[in-house]
Amino acid sequence: MKLLIVVDMQKDFIDGALGSPEAQAIVPNVKKMIEEYQEAGEDVIFTLDTHDENYMETQEGKNLPVLHCIRGTDGWELDSALREFQGKRFEKNTFGSTALMEYVQERPYESVMLIGVCTDICVISNALLVKAAIPEVPVLVDSSCCAGVSPESHENALNAMKMCHIAVQ
Ligand SMILES: [Zn+2]
Repeated sequence: MKLLIVVDMQKDFIDGALGSPEAQAIVPNVKKMIEEYQEAGEDVIFTLDTHDENYMETQEGKNLPVLHCIRGTDGWELDSALREFQGKRFEKNTFGSTALMEYVQERPYESVMLIGVCTDICVISNALLVKAAIPEVPVLVDSSCCAGVSPESHENALNAMKMCHIAVQ
């Protein structure tokens, strides 16, 4: 079985507090890939960036003082186009999800594809964690289903992942 990890496709990263035109533009591509994986009977997982009211006191809040993805708010929910999809949700309070890595280590996936936002923060963080957790499993990233903080840092992250043997398509 293959695994598709959909990273942080939440309202606040699409058209909310930290949204961007680039993130909005990938939603149809992301939706299509989820449908393809699910129609083929593959596994699909969604990560949810999840903060509490004390966000501004956290390390992330000090570096990025913009309230976002506060648990239970509309901005924390998946984009409205993706909300209805079945699939396990992994809440995470920082960039990478260690719980997700335990999950992938317990299952014999033949490949792991990562898509979503932001290419240069949470996609790259989780892609490198997957690579470390299950080094013999091919790890892929689809650039048409990812968006970065800026187009330049999106490209930089894709290049960094290529250097680490992640198959960027
Ligand atoms: Zn966050």
